[in-house]
Amino acid sequence: MCMCRLSAWLSIWKRDIPPAAPRSFQDRPPREFHKAVCSDCGKECEVPFKPTEGRPVYCLDCLPKHRKPPRF
Ligand SMILES: [Zn+2]
Repeated sequence: MCMCRLSAWLSIWKRDIPPAAPRSFQDRPPREFHKAVCSDCGKECEVPFKPTEGRPVYCLDCLPKHRKPPRF
């Protein structure tokens, strides 16, 4: 798999790891990607965690739009 894609994910996720992410993700980033469909644009994408049913999954393009605003 492409490591540059993984680092792109991590650069976003490290700042705001969602509660849906397994705890192991915070300690050791996974090297496995799971296929998912973006809840925003409907595009097929891959996410570095196992998609949970009922929870929205966003692709790299849409994820920044749906991140919570940073706390100051
Ligand atoms: Zn998307």
